[in-house]
Amino acid sequence: MTDRYQKFARSGLGRFVVGRLGLPDPYPLRRFHPGQPVLTGPALLGAAPGGRLVEQAQAVLKAVQAETHTERVPDQRYAALILDATGITSSEQLHELYDFFHPAIRSLAACGRVLVLGSRPEEELDTAGRIAQRALEGFTRSVGKELRRGGTAQLVQVAVGAEHGIESTLRFLLSARSAYVSGQVVRIERAEQTEPADWDRPLAGSVALVTGASRGIGAAIADVLGRDGAHVVCLDVPAQGADLSEVANRVGGTSLQLDITSADAPRRLADHLATRHDGVDIVVHNAGITRDKTLAGMDEARWNAVLAVNLTSQERVNDVLLGEDVLRRGGRIIDLSSIAGIAGNLGQTNYATTKAGVIGMVDALAPELRRRGGTINAVAPGFIETRMTAAVPLFVREAGRRMNSLAQGGLPVDVAETIAWYANPASAGVNGNVVRVCGQSLLGA
Ligand code: NAD
Repeated sequence: MTDRYQKFARSGLGRFVVGRLGLPDPYPLRRFHPGQPVLTGPALLGAAPGGRLVEQAQAVLKAVQAETHTERVPDQRYAALILDATGITSSEQLHELYDFFHPAIRSLAACGRVLVLGSRPEEELDTAGRIAQRALEGFTRSVGKELRRGGTAQLVQVAVGAEHGIESTLRFLLSARSAYVSGQVVRIERAEQTEPADWDRPLAGSVALVTGASRGIGAAIADVLGRDGAHVVCLDVPAQGADLSEVANRVGGTSLQLDITSADAPRRLADHLATRHDGVDIVVHNAGITRDKTLAGMDEARWNAVLAVNLTSQERVNDVLLGEDVLRRGGRIIDLSSIAGIAGNLGQTNYATTKAGVIGMVDALAPELRRRGGTINAVAPGFIETRMTAAVPLFVREAGRRMNSLAQGGLPVDVAETIAWYANPASAGVNGNVVRVCGQSLLGA
């Protein structure tokens, strides 16, 4: 799981060779530690005329105690460049992007953040507005590919009436919590807002279920949700019992040994959550397996196993938790998809089928969760440094690590922080999203 190339690239000789040959330069990403401020330097905030988010963005920057400039100060390094682009309603006005970012982009600090705040194109009143708002996506994704030294760029599309629902998303995207998220489009819809009493422990008093929690990404999710104050019910197969107890003890949660594909799993799980915890607030469907083979060589058992764990079991669990209201009002369902489910991947017809199916689940259930005051969203990780990816053959592994804008693999904590953002009570308007945690992989949109 060590990235020897990254170590080499940061050495004296490595820097020289990497610079001379134009090789990938995996800059060490800043990651979140409790107590760290959202921004470690000033933010430059601009707005196209008529923008409806600039005041709200300013209020968030004030709340996180960030120094905010509305005029660029020469020679100043900025931790974030933020443009309220909601006022852009024609292609001529797209020039505002150039006017704001062109002079400022070189002043972005290491691991800096570029944020474009836009509207939902489908909500624009006329054709010109829809075109202009959709255009912001191409701009943002390209900036993400041009940034160096760990910088990231995102577009946040905020529905009319959802202006007050942007704080959790801005806190996430501006901070080191989103270290490995870049080139993403996040949609925020109108929702009843609840602000956490304490932004350092936003999940205090809530109960979270994490499947596949004994190791890898699942263990990191349990750690982060526990850190944020949730009681975490850690679930995994009985064979993983010892590791599972260790994680549950570490996060001050409880463990539940269960094979989620077994016939009685949804019943046992629902009974456990209802009787021991009086319901559940956050359900993270993380358990997943791969059984790779090209389709021609794939035996039926590989197909069936992957479909059962990664997709069918989740549907069965959701049916019971929603059908019997074990998921409390305002509850969150969070699924693990994969960039393979978006772009497809050689040798993974079974896996990619399930991971695209998960995106279908998010689309299909988002309206129902909205009616319950809750949300459903998915994370689509790219190359994450885990036991799963350590087992990948060397050359494929190296290609996976480097073929993204940040030229490195992500860490399990990067996926976990994204899930914690979805779970935050203030993220009630973040519904029906699939956010990739992939360093802006070259695979997929
Ligand atoms: P992992 O193999 O390290 O962990 C998966 C966990 O799920 C294991 O603890 C396993 O015991 C558990 N599990 C498997 N079948 C189960 C069952 N029937 N019942 C209960 N638990 C079961 O994998 P990981 O790399 O941590 O991946 C976690 C999730 O992230 C998976 O859904 C995976 O598809 C997804 N993902 C991972 C990557 C990556 O790069 N590692 C990339 C994209 C998506």
